[in-house]
Amino acid sequence: MAVPISQMWTIASYVVSQKLRGNKRYPLVMQLEPLFRCNLACAGCGKIQYPAHILKRQLTPEQCWSAAEECGAPVVAIPGGEPLLHPQIKEIIEGLIARKKYVYCCTNALLLKQRLEEGLLKPSKYLSFSVHMDGQEEHHDFAVCREGTFKTALEGIKLAVEMGFRVTTNTTLFDGADPNSVRAFFDEMMALGVEGVMVSPGYAYPKAPDQKTFMREREKTQSFFKMLLSNRKAAWKFNQSPLFLEFLMGKRDYECTPWGLPTYNIFGWQKPCYLLQDGYVDTFKELIETTEWSNYGRASGNTACQQCMVHCGYEPSAVDHTFSSIGGLFATVKAMLASSYVDSTQAAALSEEAKKPHGPLVQLGISAGVRRVDNRQAEMAASGV
Ligand code: SF4
Ligand code: SF4
Repeated sequence: MAVPISQMWTIASYVVSQKLRGNKRYPLVMQLEPLFRCNLACAGCGKIQYPAHILKRQLTPEQCWSAAEECGAPVVAIPGGEPLLHPQIKEIIEGLIARKKYVYCCTNALLLKQRLEEGLLKPSKYLSFSVHMDGQEEHHDFAVCREGTFKTALEGIKLAVEMGFRVTTNTTLFDGADPNSVRAFFDEMMALGVEGVMVSPGYAYPKAPDQKTFMREREKTQSFFKMLLSNRKAAWKFNQSPLFLEFLMGKRDYECTPWGLPTYNIFGWQKPCYLLQDGYVDTFKELIETTEWSNYGRASGNTACQQCMVHCGYEPSAVDHTFSSIGGLFATVKAMLASSYVDSTQAAALSEEAKKPHGPLVQLGISAGVRRVDNRQAEMAASGV
C-alpha cells in the first residue's frame, strides 16, 4: 500500500472518531468538481457533454473551501473537467492544504509540465497529482481519443516526480483490455517513481434491466481483475484500500456506501453519488438527510447499481470494513503484508490471454454508443470556452 503513514494515520483516526460518535454515514473523500471544462474529449466521459453556458461556469475558491469545511472529509479529490484549466486552481488547492486536507488533483496532465514550470504549486505531503492514465501508450491514447496524450502526460509525471511532488496514476479499465499490457503499464509507472497506481472498472450503465446479464457482467469484471491482480510483483504499489482490490478480484463482497465519496460541483451536492445524478441540494447536511439511501446500492434492486463496482461507491465500504472489526483490521494487515496473491490458475489464464487479440476497447459492461459524447460540445470544451 503506497499511502504515506501520516495520511493513513489521519484517515484511521478520522474513521475511528466517526465510529465512536456512532455516525453511520460519514464522508471519507470529497469529490470536488470546480469546473466541467476539459482539454480532452474522452468518449466515455460523463462530464464534458454539458452545454457551453454550463462549461463556462466554475466554482470560486471560497465555494470550494466552504464545501470542504462543511463536508469534513479528510481527503479532497479534485477531478473535473480538467482542474488545471481553472484559473484559480492554485488558490483552491493551497486553501485546502491550509485546512489540512489531503488533496488529489486528478489531471489528464496535458498542462502539468507547463504549469509546474510556471511555478504553479510547491510540493507538500498534503498534495498528490493523480494522473489519468488508461494503460500503455496505445491504450491510453485510444481511451482518451487523442494521439500523443500519453507522451505529454509522461513528461508531466517525470517533472512532477523530479520536483518532489507526490504523484499517483488513476486508470479506468475497459472491456477488451489486455491484462498483460496493464501489468506492463504498472511496471512502467513504478519505474517512473510514482507513489502508487489506482485502478477501477468504468461505470457500467444499465442498457437493459436484465438481471442475468448484469450478473454475467459483474463476474466478467471480477475475473478480469483476478487475472490482473493475482501474482503481483513486489514493486507494484497501489494507492487504494487493499480490501477494495480484493473486492474487485471477487474475493470479498461489499454493499455500496455512496455517502463515503460525496460530490460537490457548480450545481451543489449531487445525489446520491459521483455516477448518478438524481438531483442536487445546497448543503452536505441536506445530502445526508434527504437522500433516500435505501434506493441505492445492489441490495436496493436499483438497476443503475447492479453492475457497479466503481471505487467511488465501494472503496469507502472497504475502508469502513477495515475499521469496523478486528477481522477487518486483520484482513487489511494480511493483505498489506502478503499481497502477491500467488495463483497458478490465474497465471495460466494470463498466458492464454497473451495469445489472444485484444480490442476493440469499450468500457467494462458498457456497449459502445451508451453515453456518447456530443462532439460539438466536446470540441467547445476542448477549446476552453
Ligand atoms: S480527461 Fe477525459 S474523462 Fe477526464 S474530464 Fe477530460 S474528457 Fe472527461
Ligand atoms: S452502486 Fe453506489 S456508486 Fe454505484 S451507481 Fe449505485 S449508488 Fe452510485
